[in-house]
Amino acid sequence: MHADLERLIRLQQIDLFGESARRRVADHPSLAQGLDTRLASATDGLETARARVAENQAARRAVEKDLAMIQTRLSKFKGQLMDVKTNKEYQAMLKEIEAAQTEVRHLEDRILERMLEADELAARQKNAEARLAADKQVIACERTQLEEETTRLQRELEEATSKRAQLVAEVAPGPLSTYELVRGRRGTAVAEVKGDYCSACHVRLRPQAANELRRNDMLFQCESCQRILYYPPAAAPAAENGTGAHS
Ligand SMILES: [Zn+2]
Repeated sequence: MHADLERLIRLQQIDLFGESARRRVADHPSLAQGLDTRLASATDGLETARARVAENQAARRAVEKDLAMIQTRLSKFKGQLMDVKTNKEYQAMLKEIEAAQTEVRHLEDRILERMLEADELAARQKNAEARLAADKQVIACERTQLEEETTRLQRELEEATSKRAQLVAEVAPGPLSTYELVRGRRGTAVAEVKGDYCSACHVRLRPQAANELRRNDMLFQCESCQRILYYPPAAAPAAENGTGAHS
């Protein structure tokens, strides 16, 4: 293979790696923020569940307080029942007692409702606790992976930068400026030929060009997209006819 062609192929590999690694590193802050958001949401979920348990308990205590008041009044009425002088007063007192008893039943029903609700809220709180514990673990793990990846990519980018500088120094000025020019315009400057077509722009090579290029011993630009073309090294025989395949 033409020495500069081979170098330009390697140069493009380094450049493509660099671009994707830089994009990935640039994504990291928003990925880390996504982890913060997930953790905050699980924490909020637990706080909400706890607040609802506390509200339920407070509401139940308020009803219990009302109930105690009514019960005090009820026993006072019952005590006064012995002291009434007239039948009219007696009837009036019975009415008061009946009303208070109705109120007692009503408040007892409300306490029962709160107790049922308390069971459900306790279950929800337990779920929220479990979810937060699980999320904390997963998020911590993902955060570590993200940090490790950042460190690794930054190291690899430094290595790529120095490899690139070395490679650039070895390529002749003409091919190098062609590479940079086409890369600036097209994003990539080197393309494989696949089945006599430029794999980047899908335009077919003229037969003569294809024949000359097949040996990869020259620098040849696609007539359509200007990318520097090469034939990929012959692929290894496909494994599908390998041994041991029975059907
Ligand atoms: Zn092309």
